[in-house]
Amino acid sequence: MTDHNRKPSLPTRISQALHFEEDGTGAVTPAIQPAATYARDADYAVQKPYFYRRDGNGATVQAEAMIAEMEGAVETLLFSSGMSACTAVIEHLPAGAHVVAPKVMYHGVLDQLQRYAAKGRLEVSYYTAGSLDELAAATRDGTALVWVETPNNPNWEVTDIAAAAEIAHGAGAKLLTDCTATPPCMTRALDLGADISFHSATKYLGGHSDVSAGALSVRATGDHWDDIALIRKLQGTVLQSFDAWLLIRGMRTLYLRVERACANAMAIARHFEGHGGIEAVLYPGLPSDPGHAVAKRQTDGQFGGMMSMIVKGTEQTAIDVCRFCEVFYPATSLGGVESLIEHRKTVSGEGFPVHPRLLRLSIGIEDADDLIYDLEQALSRAGAG
Ligand code: PLP
Repeated sequence: MTDHNRKPSLPTRISQALHFEEDGTGAVTPAIQPAATYARDADYAVQKPYFYRRDGNGATVQAEAMIAEMEGAVETLLFSSGMSACTAVIEHLPAGAHVVAPKVMYHGVLDQLQRYAAKGRLEVSYYTAGSLDELAAATRDGTALVWVETPNNPNWEVTDIAAAAEIAHGAGAKLLTDCTATPPCMTRALDLGADISFHSATKYLGGHSDVSAGALSVRATGDHWDDIALIRKLQGTVLQSFDAWLLIRGMRTLYLRVERACANAMAIARHFEGHGGIEAVLYPGLPSDPGHAVAKRQTDGQFGGMMSMIVKGTEQTAIDVCRFCEVFYPATSLGGVESLIEHRKTVSGEGFPVHPRLLRLSIGIEDADDLIYDLEQALSRAGAG
């Protein structure tokens, strides 16, 4: 019997941009709208929903609907970068608010939290990423926000989102998760208890290293959400139309790209675990990784395309491995179709706590054998071991 109420699966809905069809034309992709302003109608009333460019645009709304669908969110807001989305969250907190954050995390957000704290606008307490005991000890009655990045940059420790939500909510705090390294097709943070789910959409969601965007999604709206939306509008950080169009095009292949990147990453991690030139492979997909069991549960049995390796030798050996790669690009960022390698200490700068011989790898969708061969030849040329 045909089930006429059957809803297509998420991969189907996302590949069709939620079966998008433009009113009036039937176009299967949204139009790009470059206008900075919108004319009023004959009665001099605003022709809703847009008045000015900072209000947003139709392509951005469509991209937001796609992300909300994947996240199970009531609403999603897209910003012109991940950092502008994170900054809006930080900015909306009341003066003197207490925030709990990992000691090591994406360096841009850590920097921003420290800048606000240095100006006396926030108080920040830190925990070791992945440690629920330390997270609980740092959280107190009245804490406004607990920030979890999982798996976290650049060591890929895994934090149990459901357990972190329980701790945050017990203190009356909201939980924000940054699961940029495992996009919403793998991690549904809101279902696990997060109040705000953040993703740098510059990464896997966009997937082609050609757009900068940040997404915030929530389970429930309210004053905090209105405030964040107002900050986006006043600061003009809404995602612009062409970027939203690129993001939609990228998201249509998200499920395929992520599946391939995960499989490639697993093959590479297995190949280099115990390798003579590598001291350690940091990848939650390896059964030997301390975060493996939690990752398996909260990332839908997949482990993502991000990993790090500690190279044997000196700091210069690690830098040389990046220089000698011929398939991997020696570039920062992550989540694109092309594989990237970077010496993280050079990128995050002096003072950031990162192992001096740590290489961060973003595994793309190329042939895994080509990636393995490239790393082998670069390690050999650099004299690692
Ligand atoms: N959070 C994480 C985990 C990231 O990796 C990044 C960027 O690398 C950001 C936030 C900031 O995002 P964007 O570069 O889109 O501003």
